Amino acid sequence: MSDFAFRVTHSEGRARRGVMTTAHGEVETPAFMPVGTQGAVKGMLHRDLEAAGAEILLCNTYHLYLRPGDDLIARRGGLHAFIGWTKPILTDSGGYQVFSLAARRTIDEEGARFQSHLDGSSHLLTPEKAADIQAQLGSDIAMVLDECLAHPSGEADARTSMERTLRWARRGRDRFLEIRDPNARLKDSRAGEPAAPPFAAAARENGLRVTNPGQAQFGIVQGSVFPNLRTESAQRTVDIGFEAYAIGGLSVGEPNDVMYEMVGTTTPFLPATGPRYLMGAGTPEDLVESVARGIDLFDCVLPTRNARNGQLFTSEGRINIKNARFAEDDRPVDPTCSCYTCRTCSRAYLRHLFAVGEINAATLNTLHNLHFYLDTLRRIRESLAFGRFEQFRQLFHQNLSRQPLDP
Ligand SMILES: [Zn+2]
Repeated sequence: MSDFAFRVTHSEGRARRGVMTTAHGEVETPAFMPVGTQGAVKGMLHRDLEAAGAEILLCNTYHLYLRPGDDLIARRGGLHAFIGWTKPILTDSGGYQVFSLAARRTIDEEGARFQSHLDGSSHLLTPEKAADIQAQLGSDIAMVLDECLAHPSGEADARTSMERTLRWARRGRDRFLEIRDPNARLKDSRAGEPAAPPFAAAARENGLRVTNPGQAQFGIVQGSVFPNLRTESAQRTVDIGFEAYAIGGLSVGEPNDVMYEMVGTTTPFLPATGPRYLMGAGTPEDLVESVARGIDLFDCVLPTRNARNGQLFTSEGRINIKNARFAEDDRPVDPTCSCYTCRTCSRAYLRHLFAVGEINAATLNTLHNLHFYLDTLRRIRESLAFGRFEQFRQLFHQNLSRQPLDP
């Protein structure tokens, strides 16, 4: 039904290298997904993203649903056609932004009621609605709606939230299957009859334009920082049966070692036959440590958001280009980096551009940070191909500890 597939080509310990196949092509994993919130990565052209090696983008359902609206995008043929990006796209469910951005949100069993942060208009995001919007956007990977719990939370609240997330996951999956094949539940009793045309009645009844028939849907594991809840959530989410699984609710302010422990506790309960996606993480160190624990997909706003604030990632740690000590520094941001910014710009020039508020400062900084992230993943994949991931991991941490972080 969906065009989704995954195969592991190399592994070392729990780290894997593989290839994920989607309706819009293949993605080499472990992979980093730049965040294109409004259908664009801030400051970047798609051309620059492709040149930097990005193979898949993440776009935010909440923002695109509010503006320009999933109906308008579906009329243009879906998100790929609308934004002119031909490679794979993953969309989130919209839940995270409802929980973090929207005004006056209330959560009940039906879903999340909220007011738009733009104009105060009222909306209801249910597991079914999240599936419908993403069907119209036509991303290659849709995420199921989950409840995003605030950190820290007690175990009782975390369990209540996890149980609701599981009920929402069942509803979201049912809707996803119903949109695509309204006769799915009847098939067994009608063996031998020709299959009904895909996504006929259910999609029509709901006035939906399904713009990507090959879309896959990922389930999301919750359970806060409680290992017993994480493993239970993983097992029960897998029982529902999605194309693959993500770990949500981490990288929300808990200490690094807690996040690594939760990732390490959860991945053994997620099928080895599918990619595992750690949502919203993290620093370059987080990526390396999570790959070591069996993660294959990442997204994070750090490289792009920090770039716009002047913070640049390098192989020896982060620097802040605003710092006065770069005023006459003729070196590139990172002498080991081959990105356009490092090949053509000095730290002194980048500091000047930032200081005067030149638009190019955001573009050049983002180009470098994304290149650094994508190149880190490329080097991880290469080390896995040669059975040298553990060596890479040790060297990576050694380099990072060489100089202190900029304030
Ligand atoms: Zn660079």
